[in-house]
Amino acid sequence: MSVTAEQAIRAAGDELQRLFLAQRRAFAAEPDPPLSTRRDRLNRLEALTERHEDDIIAAIAADFGTRPAQETRLAELFTVTAGIRYARRHLRGWMRPRRVPTPLYLWPGSSRILRQPLGVVGVISPWNYPFQLAMLPAVAALAAGNRVLLKPSELTPRTSALLEHVVAAHFAADEFAVVTGGPEVGEAFARVPFDHLFFTGSTAVGRKIAQAAAANLTPVTLELGGKSPVLIAEDADFNVAASRLVMGKLLNAGQTCIAPDYVLAPEGRIDALVEAIRGSAAALYPTVGSNPDYTSIVNEQHYARIKSIVDDALAKGARAVRLNAGEKLPASSRKLELTLLLGVRDDMAVLQEEIFGPVLPIETYATFDEAIARINARPRPLALYAFGGGAVERERVLRETTAGGVTLGDTLWHFSSEGLPFGGVGASGIGAYHGEHGFLTFTHEKAVFTQPRLALTWLLYPPYGKRFERVLALLKKLT
Ligand code: NAD
Repeated sequence: MSVTAEQAIRAAGDELQRLFLAQRRAFAAEPDPPLSTRRDRLNRLEALTERHEDDIIAAIAADFGTRPAQETRLAELFTVTAGIRYARRHLRGWMRPRRVPTPLYLWPGSSRILRQPLGVVGVISPWNYPFQLAMLPAVAALAAGNRVLLKPSELTPRTSALLEHVVAAHFAADEFAVVTGGPEVGEAFARVPFDHLFFTGSTAVGRKIAQAAAANLTPVTLELGGKSPVLIAEDADFNVAASRLVMGKLLNAGQTCIAPDYVLAPEGRIDALVEAIRGSAAALYPTVGSNPDYTSIVNEQHYARIKSIVDDALAKGARAVRLNAGEKLPASSRKLELTLLLGVRDDMAVLQEEIFGPVLPIETYATFDEAIARINARPRPLALYAFGGGAVERERVLRETTAGGVTLGDTLWHFSSEGLPFGGVGASGIGAYHGEHGFLTFTHEKAVFTQPRLALTWLLYPPYGKRFERVLALLKKLT
């Protein structure tokens, strides 16, 4: 490690330590914020989002090159305000202690679960939805009564700087604060002994986060990536499937953690599927280069990475279908047309790495069993999509494969249904959030047993003898 990197870690460490300790003290002074305080924090988050709508749209567009305001309004601003409103509406109910049944043998004692904030929570977020993926974990953590430190991505510097500025304008630093910087700051951040560390990003960095957090026994939520399959059954309506697939794939130009990554389609139907996708892509995005609705790739490295995935597949014998109406796409625009790859094999990067761009490999299957086996042979995906199939096939897909979440008959939308937990499984992540699941991620469910003045448990005390044996025999009968 270079001296500068070491210095950066140390410097970030000092600043982090200062903020962390300030938040710890503030939490100790108010370990169980009442409903009104939590609602006030959510109100401020909402005000921040609404007041700075134009600034957020502009910062994200500047970070990406092209990012339509509509995509930012839908996938970032609307999603965050919807999450805030849902939390605010349900918060009173989520905070209530739960009475649970007490077994007869502990009568007349009683049992309940107290939902307590954890303390100071760290959030590390990625660049692809730089506002939403930073804010939604903060919404859940603040609703649950915690203090929050956020480290957004260095790859969207304008949005991260804006976040730092607007959060500081709406929150005390010991309530919610933003620390900016790259992987060095991220490393220092992951070493802070938070009460919970919430990370969204790549599986490779997620492993490092888990290792750093283990040193402090800090519990982690890891929202990672992976290859999300789309299973198309023989009887699917190809036109409906194609338009929903293209929409899910080209939103944010494929730079979405739950974007459809690859397709499994029935042998013999590939031409029909390609034509349906071609029609949908042309209808949704008639042009690419000059189209303000079509997002750019975030930077040159990712642009080169996605091109190299295609080149690798072509060099190994795949065939590309480029859905481009003859436009020239200069590298400076960092726009890539939707490229279908046919004849793909497992030794190609396109079937090994998460694509995170507008490239869609299409594999074929001969039988439904084979399609399910292909999905199960790969690391567990963050999302799975299935089109067509009768009730039996749909049930088989749900029960015989494992994925973080599923949308049947469409793509992406399970993310937006607040009652559903959002998270991965296996290589695609640990833990979940959204709605009450997010509230519980940042909550300790404390077990409380209350023994009344009059209790019979003394019957099990020493000195052990006949009384103990008789009471234990009776307890066995009561269970
Ligand atoms: P990334 O892992 O490169 O970076 C994420 C964050 O981690 C950034 O803030 C970065 O600065 C920080 N970081 C980098 N190295 C670090 C280190 N050694 N220690 C601590 N922090 C470090 O991910 P990315 O490129 O920003 O995002 C893309 C990835 O995120 C994709 O794999 C995508 O699937 C995944 N993702 C997942 C979800 C989800 O909800 N599951 C959502 C969006 C993106």
